[in-house]
Amino acid sequence: MDIFNVRCPTCQKDYYADMLLYSLKVELHCPYCGVYFYKEESPKLVTGGAGASTVARVAGGLSQEMIYRPPAEED
Ligand SMILES: [Zn+2]
Repeated sequence: MDIFNVRCPTCQKDYYADMLLYSLKVELHCPYCGVYFYKEESPKLVTGGAGASTVARVAGGLSQEMIYRPPAEED
């Protein structure tokens, strides 16, 4: 899958998320410290390439629930 790398503005750790999330206006969820933030708030955001090594750094992988907050239900 296509991913992008993003740095948490709170704990400064890098992780990755699906490119699908990049195009959505949803808050990303840091798997390390648990903070929610928009990608515009990240001090470092890299799309394309060099993703595999970052993926390998995250033991056990990540679930979608771990990396972003789903949009709220609206009636
Ligand atoms: Zn964090």
